[in-house]
Amino acid sequence: MKKPIITFARWGNYTIAFKTLFEQLGLEVIPPEKTNSETVAAGAKIAPEMFCFPMKVTLGNYLPALERGANTIFMIQNVGGSCRQRYYGVIQEKVLKDAGHDITLLDFRATPRDIYRKIKEITGASFWQILKTVRFSLRELRLIEKIEKMAQFYRPREIKKGTTDRTLQESLLKIEELKEEKAFPKLKKEVLKSFFGIPIEKNKKTPKVALIGEIYTVCDPAINFDVESKLGKEGIEVYREMDLTYHIKKLIFPWKDWIIQRKINPYLGSTVGGHGRDAIYEMLHYVEKGFDGIIHLLPFGCMPEVTIRPILEKIHLESGIPFLSLSLDEQVAEAGINTRLEAFVDVVKNHHEYKIS
Ligand code: SF4
Repeated sequence: MKKPIITFARWGNYTIAFKTLFEQLGLEVIPPEKTNSETVAAGAKIAPEMFCFPMKVTLGNYLPALERGANTIFMIQNVGGSCRQRYYGVIQEKVLKDAGHDITLLDFRATPRDIYRKIKEITGASFWQILKTVRFSLRELRLIEKIEKMAQFYRPREIKKGTTDRTLQESLLKIEELKEEKAFPKLKKEVLKSFFGIPIEKNKKTPKVALIGEIYTVCDPAINFDVESKLGKEGIEVYREMDLTYHIKKLIFPWKDWIIQRKINPYLGSTVGGHGRDAIYEMLHYVEKGFDGIIHLLPFGCMPEVTIRPILEKIHLESGIPFLSLSLDEQVAEAGINTRLEAFVDVVKNHHEYKIS
C-alpha cells in the first residue's frame, strides 16, 4: 500500500483545525489550496454541471494539492440531513479518477465510530492518541468560531477601519502555527486580549443583520465574498447561528429538530433536507428579536434552500423585515454581489432609523 499523503475538503477558517487533526496524528498532509477564482473554475470544469457548488469548490481545492503529491482524500459523507452531500465522496472519486488522478478517497459516515475506525485504520494511532488529537482540534475549532463572532461585534464599532480584520487574520495565523496543545491556553488568552484591545465606540447602536442559509456557504468567507466583513465595515453588526458547532450539537441532541419543526409548522410541515428547516426557524427568531435585515445565502441549485426560499419571502412580506437572497455559483461575480449588498445596506439603515425614530 502506498504511503498516504493526505488532503481534505477546505472549509473557511475551519481548515486550520482540520489540518491540526491530521498533522497531530502523524500523517503527511498537503492542505487543500485556498479558494480563489482559478480553483473554483478548475473544480467546475471537471464536476457534473448541475451538481452543488460546494462540491465543485472542494474539487477545485484538491487539484493543486494532488499535483503537489497528495494521494489520499478525506471526505466525510452523510453529515446528517438528506441532501446531495451524501454523494459527494462517490462522485468526487469518479470525477478525479476520470481526470487521471490516482487517488484513494476515504469516504465515511460522520458518526464518531466511523471516524474513529477510519483514522485508526490509516494512522495506527492508539485510542488515547486519537482522543487527545480530536480534543486539540476541537479546541482550535471553538476558538476560531469565538473570534469570528467577536469580529462580527467589533467590526461595526471599530474606530480605525480594518483593525478587526487585521486582528482576526493575525489570530488565525497564530492558531495555525500552534503545534502543541499545552500551549493552547496561553495562545487563547493572547488572542482574546488582542481583540479586547481593539479601540471601539462602545455605546454605538448598530443595525443588526442575520445570515442564514446553507452551512458551507454561510461559514466560508471565500465563497460568500466575505459578506460579514463587508457588512461590518458598513457599520452593521452581523449575527450567524449556523456553524459547525451548531451542526454537531444537532447531531448529538436530535430533538432540536422537533423544536424547530414545532415553530415552523405554520409554514412547512416536513423536512426538505439540508438545513432548510433551520433557515425558516432562524428567520422567525430574528424577526421576533427585532433584527433590521436577513441575508439568505445559498449555492445555486441547492434543493433544500431553493425549496424554502418562497417561505422566507413570505415571512419577509408578513413582517416587513428587509430580506436579500444571494444565490452563489462559479458564474457569480463579486462586483454584482457588492452592488446588491450596497443597496441592501441602505434599506437596512433606513429600516433601523425608522424604527428608532
Ligand atoms: S445543502 Fe445544498 S448545496 Fe449543500 S450539499 Fe445539500 S443540496 Fe448541496
